Amino acid sequence: MKYIDEYRDGAVARTLAARIARQADPRITYRFMEFCGGHTHAISRFGIADLLPGNVRMIHGPGCPVCVLPTGRIDMAIRLARLPQVTLCTYGDLMRVPGSAGQSLLKAKAAGADVRMVYSTLDAIRIAETEPGREVVFFAVGFETTTPPTALAIRQAEARQLANFSIFCNHVLTPPAIRGILESSSDGVEIDGFIGPSHVSAVIGTRPYDPFADEFSKPVVVTGFEPLDVLQAVLMLIRQINEGRHVVENQYVRAVTREGNKAAQAGMADVFTLRDAFAWRGLGSLPHSGLKLKNTYAAFDAERRFDLEDLPGRENPACECGAILRGIKRPAECKLFGTACTPETPLGSCMVSSEGACAAHWTYGRFRDHQRRAS
Ligand code: SF4
Repeated sequence: MKYIDEYRDGAVARTLAARIARQADPRITYRFMEFCGGHTHAISRFGIADLLPGNVRMIHGPGCPVCVLPTGRIDMAIRLARLPQVTLCTYGDLMRVPGSAGQSLLKAKAAGADVRMVYSTLDAIRIAETEPGREVVFFAVGFETTTPPTALAIRQAEARQLANFSIFCNHVLTPPAIRGILESSSDGVEIDGFIGPSHVSAVIGTRPYDPFADEFSKPVVVTGFEPLDVLQAVLMLIRQINEGRHVVENQYVRAVTREGNKAAQAGMADVFTLRDAFAWRGLGSLPHSGLKLKNTYAAFDAERRFDLEDLPGRENPACECGAILRGIKRPAECKLFGTACTPETPLGSCMVSSEGACAAHWTYGRFRDHQRRAS
C-alpha cells in the first residue's frame, strides 16, 4: 500500500474484523492496552472498538505526554512564566492544561505573563535570537518522539552561543511507564497484551519491549496509527494468545526497525541523562522514567538556572484522569465528563489534548454512548 486512504479502506477493515471475529476464542477475554494516545485517538475516531467482538476489549493507556504531566509540573511552568524576565514558549495544548486551583498557562498569559505558543523548538530558538533581552524558556514535554528535536535545539543553542535560551525539561520514557503499569498489580488492571506505540518505536526500535514479553509474558505488537494498522495488530495479538506465544512483533515495518533510529538515539544520549525518578499523573513516581539535561548542558536547564523547586500540585479530586491513565476507568465513568468537563472547559489534562482519552471520547465516542443507552 502506498497512500493513506488505502490504510482506511472500509472493505479491508471489514475483512480484518471478520478474521478477528473468527479467531477470537469465545472462551477467552482479550484485554489489550493501546499505550499511545495516537492509537486512542484512532480507535475512537474510526470506531474500531465497534468492529471488535465483545470479548476483545481495548484499554486506553497513558501514552499522551500532555495527559501524564502532573499538576505540580504545570504549576512550576506557571511559576516560571510569571518571572518578569521570562518568555515561556510552549505548544498550544499545554496552555490549557489545568494546574492547581484552576490555574493554567493561558490564565497566566491573560494576567500578563509572557507565554507564547510555538510549533517547534526552532520557533523558541528564533525568539531567543531576536529578543536577546528576554530569558526564553522552552516548555519541553513528550516521549521519545519529541526528545530528539529538543536535544537538537540544545545543541543549536550551544553552537550559536545563545545565552538567553533554556528548557524546562519534562521528557519521559515509554518502557518504564509500561513496566510501571505491569508492576502496579494492586489496581487489578488485567492486560493480556500491548499495542506498542508507533512514532516512539521509530526512534527507540522494538528491542526495548523485549522484557515485557520475556519477563511479564505479555505479547507486544508495535503498530501504525491507521485503522487497518490497529486492526491488524489486534489480530496479531489474538493469534499470539491463542498460540500461547508472547513475543514482540512489528506490524509497522514501513517505519520501525528493531534497533530504531541510531542518530536520534545518539542525539538524546549526548544531551540527556536519566532522572532517578519522575512523577507521572496517574502512575505516581516511576524510577528512571524521565530525562534531565546532562551537567555539560546545565546552562540550558531552566530548573537550575531559575532555581526552580519541585511543587507538589493539587489535582481536582473529582477528576478521574489518574484512573483513566492506568486503564482502570473509562472517560464516561467520570461524573464530570460532558457536564462540567468538556474540551471548552477542561477540568483535567485528558480532556485537553486530542490524544487524551476524554477528549477522544468526547469528539467521537459520546454519540455511541447515547446510541447504546437508547438501544
Ligand atoms: S472528564 Fe474531565 S474531569 Fe473527568 S477524568 Fe476526564 S479530564 Fe478529568
